[in-house]
Amino acid sequence: MKYTILTLFPGLVRPWLEEALIQKAIEKGLIEVEVRDIRDYANNKHNIVDETPYGGGAGMVMKVDVVVRAIEAAGEADEVILLTPAGRPFNQRTAEELAALSSDQGRKHLVLVCGRYEGIDARVEQFVTREVSIGDYVLMGGELGALVLLEATSRLIPGVIKEAESHQQDSFSTGLLDYPHYTRPASFRGLEVPEILISGHHAKINEWRRRQALSRTKARRPDLLNGTELTPKDLAWLDAQDGSA
Ligand code: SAH
Repeated sequence: MKYTILTLFPGLVRPWLEEALIQKAIEKGLIEVEVRDIRDYANNKHNIVDETPYGGGAGMVMKVDVVVRAIEAAGEADEVILLTPAGRPFNQRTAEELAALSSDQGRKHLVLVCGRYEGIDARVEQFVTREVSIGDYVLMGGELGALVLLEATSRLIPGVIKEAESHQQDSFSTGLLDYPHYTRPASFRGLEVPEILISGHHAKINEWRRRQALSRTKARRPDLLNGTELTPKDLAWLDAQDGSA
């Protein structure tokens, strides 16, 4: 998968690519990330990328001609994604859908467009394939959103995280929140690790984890249960809960 991130602040984005699993994925050639400065496409003497809004009002608006030149210069793309609070809320399903592109033959290319100021001239909508919001709040720019998309999709690409299994149990992948995790020490300030986890009884451990995931989801995010496939055993467990997990 190739990602191109279009931003007015490449220096905010690049350090993210130089550490941890993203850096390793790039090094292994599993993903490629190009960061391009939208200002390079200003094509005017003073490198102007934003102007005051038609109709008046506060703030500056990014120029459509500049941004579209940047999009077109990024080359053939499978998706051009605009980060905006007015977009469709991003979630694990969207991440899976985008990551799945990479399972087809040939290199896939996602272009991520970051706004700044009051946002981009609305006509840019004609040049993107989708608009995505990372949540119901307003940030100062699209860069964190682009990195959220990069992280959430690339960790689903085979080889990027070590155990293929480890993301199948993640929160949302099963439709439920993840079960709680523990590691040494077994006792910390009087807080004990649940005994079942030390029992070595794998079938019982799996059952306990499933039940924990169900109880936590019911208590914290009951909305998620509607979109989840539940077995009769799951339902019986949930019925017995008072939602106090
Ligand atoms: N006036 C705009 C907000 C502009 S914020 C509005 O109310 O919709 C500046 C830029 O930050 C946006 O162009 C967008 O790229 C990015 N941004 C801010 N909040 C975001 C969010 N929740 N999701 C994705 N991008 C966001």
